Amino acid sequence: MGNPLCAAQAKAGFAFPADVTSMSEQFDFDTQAVRAGIQRSAFNEHSEALYLTSSFVFRDAAQAAARFSNEEPGYVYSRFSNPTVTAFQERLAALEGGEACVATASGMSAILACAMGLLKSGDHIVSSSSIFGATVQLFATVLGRFGVDTTFVAGADPSAWTRALRPTTRLMFLETPSNPLTEVADIGALAAIARRAGAVLAVDNCFCTPALQRPLALGADLVIHSATKYLDGQGRVLGGAVVGRRDLVLDGVFPFLRTAGPSLSPFNAWVLLKGLETLRIRMEAQSQRALALARWVEAHPRVERVYYPGLASHPQHALAQRQQSAGGAIVSFDVRGGRAAAWRVIDSTRLLSITANLGDTKSTITHPASTTHGRISAEARAAAGIGEGLVRVAVGLESVADLEADLARGLDG
Ligand SMILES: *Cc1c(COP(=O)(O)O)cnc(C)c1O
Repeated sequence: MGNPLCAAQAKAGFAFPADVTSMSEQFDFDTQAVRAGIQRSAFNEHSEALYLTSSFVFRDAAQAAARFSNEEPGYVYSRFSNPTVTAFQERLAALEGGEACVATASGMSAILACAMGLLKSGDHIVSSSSIFGATVQLFATVLGRFGVDTTFVAGADPSAWTRALRPTTRLMFLETPSNPLTEVADIGALAAIARRAGAVLAVDNCFCTPALQRPLALGADLVIHSATKYLDGQGRVLGGAVVGRRDLVLDGVFPFLRTAGPSLSPFNAWVLLKGLETLRIRMEAQSQRALALARWVEAHPRVERVYYPGLASHPQHALAQRQQSAGGAIVSFDVRGGRAAAWRVIDSTRLLSITANLGDTKSTITHPASTTHGRISAEARAAAGIGEGLVRVAVGLESVADLEADLARGLDG
């Protein structure tokens, strides 16, 4: 066996046949992206098998009892153990450099599972205010009803995090780069603050993915993913994951998932496994296109300001250069003239898809103030710097010239 990840997961209720070989220490990122987590069935299929089954059968009653009590490793029921889901978990854990990984039904259920698995009533969260709109809602509204308080701070200002700490602070949460303003926070500095405070540092690594940034290597305890975005990369399925320290993932988050059931479907896990194979190639190509588009947008007279970590004008450009291997594929910009002007740019496109999703090979365009961030209060939006003229483009794999022409129609008009 010789694989600590497998041993730990078997202990927590996952199950692995004994011949699994961990590849994480032997192979580079590109190799792991294609091959980590593969475990062939008796048929020796080449492509990852899709185990579309809700349960697993036992030889006899005694084996069923042994499986249920965790005395014998083996699969039981797909709410908490399925070989295709295990393969996705192992591959993502290898790419993030994490000790353990659990997959979830969506990015939001990954964040919920972290909170429910690691926090109790009376605990306190410090969170960047520049995070996904639904995450703000989850912390402020849902968790608030269960006695978990959240203080929102400027993510890029480490001293604001320190000031917000309380003796009950148990979780520090951020996205970097953030959605939609691509604000970059210093993961290493925040990890040091979290360590001193005895809090868990969780980083939503949605915008960079492990292809461009590895938060665990920078000191974070947990990485959160909306696999719906770049890990799939082609806009097909919902999924999520929590990766990181074994004790937090397997003793904290996993028991909640097993009991409450926001589980990743084996079919979605299979799609996501295929997405991971091309992750780095896509992230690099989309980042390259995003940088070219950001430079073009920045030069346009109708554009007041561009938010892209790869531009020298970005307030945390130097930090992004250190922390990320490329700028990512999200380019946001303020159009002069507020909501009417922003909507004109969006409505004049013929190529870009008007949708709030991101992480697709097809470029998308959205107006955050009225979509992704429409349900938070106007004050909270203003505090997060999301103006009425803000447009967010998630750059895909089309030609940059075609994307520029598509945006020029609304900007020039
Ligand atoms: C989309 C998104 C989420 C939520 O993920 P779902 O899969 O839609 O539940 C969380 N964080 C970020 C940064 C996102 O973009």
